Formats: sequence, structure tokens, C-alpha cells
Amino acid sequence: MQKIATVIGTTGVGKSQLGVELCKALGGQIINADAMQVYRGLDIITNKMPFHERQGVQHHLMDFLDCEEEYKVTEFKKDATQCIEKLIHEKQLPVVVGGTNYYVQSLLYQNSLIKDEPQGDQYIRSPSPEPMPELDALQTSELYSRLQEIDPIMANKWHPSNRRKIIRSLQVFYQLGRKQSDIIKEQKDHLQIHGSQSRFKSVIFWLYADPQKLNPRLDERVNTMIDSGLFDEIKQLRHQVVQGQVNIPGQDLEKYQRGLWQAIGYKEFDPYFTAVESNSLDHEKLSQLRMECTERMKAATRRYAKRQVQWIRNKLLPTVWNAQQQNDVMVYLLDASDLTEWDTNVRQKAIEVAKAFQADEKMPNPQDFGEIAKTMLTETNTQDTQSRILSWTNHICPVCKSEKGDQVILYGDIEWEQHRKSRWHKKSIKHQKLQAKRQVNLD
Ligand SMILES: [Zn+2]
Repeated sequence: MQKIATVIGTTGVGKSQLGVELCKALGGQIINADAMQVYRGLDIITNKMPFHERQGVQHHLMDFLDCEEEYKVTEFKKDATQCIEKLIHEKQLPVVVGGTNYYVQSLLYQNSLIKDEPQGDQYIRSPSPEPMPELDALQTSELYSRLQEIDPIMANKWHPSNRRKIIRSLQVFYQLGRKQSDIIKEQKDHLQIHGSQSRFKSVIFWLYADPQKLNPRLDERVNTMIDSGLFDEIKQLRHQVVQGQVNIPGQDLEKYQRGLWQAIGYKEFDPYFTAVESNSLDHEKLSQLRMECTERMKAATRRYAKRQVQWIRNKLLPTVWNAQQQNDVMVYLLDASDLTEWDTNVRQKAIEVAKAFQADEKMPNPQDFGEIAKTMLTETNTQDTQSRILSWTNHICPVCKSEKGDQVILYGDIEWEQHRKSRWHKKSIKHQKLQAKRQVNLD
């Protein structure tokens, strides 16, 4: 089986740097798996590693696409696979580096996402669905009864007061024309039937940084991007849009959610540049707006980093652990929280592991790489969110009654477990027993 190394993790943890270091130490070349870095130019908004830092290591699938084009995950998979074959033929270690986790996952595993991805799942994952003001205007109880009619399975899953989740499920239905429960079920069935089959023998390095340490770094990086010319790139892109030189892919509904246009920064600064272009604000108001947009971009960056970690924990790791041949892919978490210790904690450890991998020697236990690794790589700590959602069921307690004498319904297994341990429930059981006894005595 062909061997590759893979570097994953959030933005701002030194993935590109580790990629270069691995290539230097092991004789390899980089395959980019970042959906934004495939675009030509625009180095700042796409976060490309500056050329001089690449130290002569060759990067593939980077810097080749025009901004109005889209690069689908299927295309990435095909191109990256070809590239891997070519590199292996040349006795080079392919090192896949990327922040676009579903690119990485679809490359590493057969049947894991590709087929069921495009329509529903992408949408469900999308952080910002199109708002539906007509729903926002309704009472939560009205929304809930609507959902009960449309998608009773999802209605069963959510607590009737969980407005946010209820609206989300309704949005899925109104905007995709399909029930959310069907979409989830489809993907789950698909995964269960096929399991996931690894396509390569791979060692994955997951560079992880404690969010408390990472977030200030991400904020600082946004400032640096602005200082080094982010606005010029945004202006250039806006200019092309105004001139009609590019067509932003997608319909109005999903504009800025596809291709390059989802790059963090472009839409966050839209209000600022709109004001600049229309010359509608005085200097003070303009700099106020600029500050607000900067904050938006920082918040979006932090959210993105959070989602990247969630993806790894909820999707990638369960796939690795549920795969048919579990030892083909090994995941090592390296602690990139402290940049001053990066060389020891990240670079040296990764090279050591990768050398063992390359030489077919015995691989170290990923659990031995510190406390964070132990915690994050423990199977019980990760749950496939979607499976969990589907397994949620309501429980009607057979003994308890509310103050009004109504049934007591617990929404979800966890809630039910908690209820069963509660004093209320134990008291009800005691009460029931006492009554039963009394009944016997009376008879
Ligand atoms: Zn009870």
C-alpha cells in the first residue's frame, strides 16, 4: 500500500512549516489540501506560506486556480491521487498538508464522504444558512408544531424549547426540500454499510493548540494580514466583481459560500468597502466601521478554527477508528500550544515518528505523546454527532408525574439517564412501592 504523511490542524499552528520540515528530513514534496490555497495569487487572504519560507520544497496543487473557478472535493481527490502516484514513483514521500479536513478525509478514505456529501451534508455543516425572517417571527411553540408535521423524527430529537435547533431543521427542509432526518440517515447508512476503507497507509500529524493560547495568536494574525496588504487583495477582488470579470459561483442564496468567496475576510469587510466605495461616511465613522469589520474577521477566524477541531474529533477520528483496517492510518496529536517549544514538541517528534513510518519500524503509541494527546485521542471522548442525534429517543417516565399530573417526558438518552438517577425519580419509585404494598395489605 502506498505511503503518505499528512499534516492537519487549525489555522495558525504551523502546519505548512511542519510540512516543509518533514519534506526536508525525509525527502518529500507537499500536496496542498487547503481549499483556499489552490487559488492563484491572493497570498494573504488565502494564508499561503511565503515563498522564501518554503525552503525549496516543492508544493503541488497550490496557486493554480482562477478566482471564479470552483474546485470540488472530487476534483481534489483525483488530482491529489495522481500527484501521490507520481511522487511515489519518483521515490519522494508525499506530504499532504491542509486545513480543509473534508479534502483530507476524502483522500484518505474510500466511501467516507464523497457520494453523500454534495447535497445535504455540506449544507448541514454550513455555519451560516440563509436567514428566514418568516420563521424568526414565529413563536417557538408554533415552530415546533410545524416541525412535528414536517419532520417528526427531528422534532422528537429536539427539546420543544430549543428554538435554534428547531429553526435549523426547518431551514434544512425549506431550503433543501428534504427532511434533515433523511439526510442524516442516508449518510449514516452509507457509512455503516461500507465502513471506510483507507486508500493509503498514512501517518497523520494533528497539530493542536489550546484555544486559549491559539485565539490571541489568530487575532494577531488578522492584524498582520491587514498590515501586509489584505485590503489590496480584497479591493482587487471587488474590482473584478464590479467590472463583471468574474461571476461569483452559486445563486444568491449561497453566494460567498462557495469557492474563493468563502475566504475569511472577504465578506467580513464588505460593509467597510461598500462604505468606502460609496463615499458615504466621514472619516471617524469609517474607521469605526473598519474596526467592527476587523473584529468580525477575527471572530470568524476563531469560529473556523473551532469547527476544524470539531471536524477532526467528530468526523475524521471516528472514521479512522471505524475503518476496516485500523492500523493503516495512525493519528498523532502534537502539542503546538507553545510556539517557543514548537521545535521540540512538534518538529522533532514528528520527524522521529515519520522516520519510523518510512522505515517500516514499530510505531510509537500515539497515547504516549502527553496528556492532551491522551485525552483527545481517546475513543470515548469523540462521538459521531450524527449517530448520536439519530440514537436520541424520547422517554416517558413510567412512574413520575408532573405537578399538574402530566406525563414526564425526557428528551434524549442522557436526560433520561440523569432523570433515572434523580431524587425525584427515586422518590416516585418509593412512593409507587409503598402504594403497591398498601394495595396488597388492603386485599
Ligand atoms: Zn421518573
